Amino acid sequence: MKKHNFSAGPSILPEEVLEKSAQAILDFDEGLSLIEISHRSKAFINVMENARSLAIELLGLQGKGYKALFVQGGANTQFLAVALNLLESRAGYLNTGTWSDKAIKEARMHQEVLEVASSKESNFNYIPKGYKIPSDLDYFHCTSNNTIFGTQMKEFPKLNIPLVCDMSSDIFSRSLDFSKFDLIYAGAQKNMGPAGTTLVIVKEDILGKVTRQIPSMMDYKVQISKDSMFNTPPVFAVYTSMLTLEWLKGLGGIEAIEKENFKKSRLMYSEIDLNPLFKGFAATADRSTMNATFSLTDDKLKDSFDGMCKDAGINGLNGHRSVGGYRASMYNALPLASVETLVEIMSELERKA
Ligand SMILES: *Cc1c(COP(=O)(O)O)cnc(C)c1O
Repeated sequence: MKKHNFSAGPSILPEEVLEKSAQAILDFDEGLSLIEISHRSKAFINVMENARSLAIELLGLQGKGYKALFVQGGANTQFLAVALNLLESRAGYLNTGTWSDKAIKEARMHQEVLEVASSKESNFNYIPKGYKIPSDLDYFHCTSNNTIFGTQMKEFPKLNIPLVCDMSSDIFSRSLDFSKFDLIYAGAQKNMGPAGTTLVIVKEDILGKVTRQIPSMMDYKVQISKDSMFNTPPVFAVYTSMLTLEWLKGLGGIEAIEKENFKKSRLMYSEIDLNPLFKGFAATADRSTMNATFSLTDDKLKDSFDGMCKDAGINGLNGHRSVGGYRASMYNALPLASVETLVEIMSELERKA
């Protein structure tokens, strides 16, 4: 039975993407597998170029001075790469959870980091607001969606310094004015593809301003000049990401998927709010459309709820250990029907209790 996959990451991909990528493993180019051909072959260069231009197109950034890169090392490597490429004296970071915390730690190895605001004191269940960002910083860094805690930034500051954002878990999920951002990065494995590649969208004119030497693999200018092929790229991850971006474009792009994502999250949160057996973790105004965090009001119901989920083929609902309870991740590829199934089980639990 096909599972309802609520996993937080790596996570669900569209069925047709899985089928096409499986086929490419067997026969991609004249009888050769995708993973046994040269990354310098015409067939693969086309894949890389197509993936990069689809990313820019879907975000509405054509002709605005941005480059898209597919690099390796995950978002965790970007925590470091951002600082190496942009941090000359002092940067500001908004601390909204585990991933921001890690980004701060990596940047601090190089230069001064100002934590402009944090919601750590309440286990990151909300997004700080009304903070001041000094204008003499090298850049301001934030995390658009906090995968673990289920909070999501709904607004972003207007700045006269570069705005850098970790969008690993909500890229391509909602319409934003992406041209407000100077650098966006996202590990593929939440909303775009398999683990193994990370998308970086960078406005070229913010680069080349630091005095340090940057290791080649982490140097955005090097990666741009080599068209994301400074070293052998993760061909399978890039190809599968390209297929997902094509799938999204075919659906009508970000605006179309955003409507679906709203439907799913509205249904999910209304059940959490109306059903007395459940309570949400994140502050209502800051709730994520991607990751809904919630728990049972009575732990004694855990075994029966877990059993009902299992019987219905629901997978990946366990909360992260730092929050506990449950987390329903509703990435782009998750069908509305999966959320309907989960909500149905939650109300059935209420009827039986
Ligand atoms: C998953 C995640 C990361 C870590 O990504 P890796 O690719 O495993 O390094 C970073 N930031 C956010 C917001 C995430 O959801």
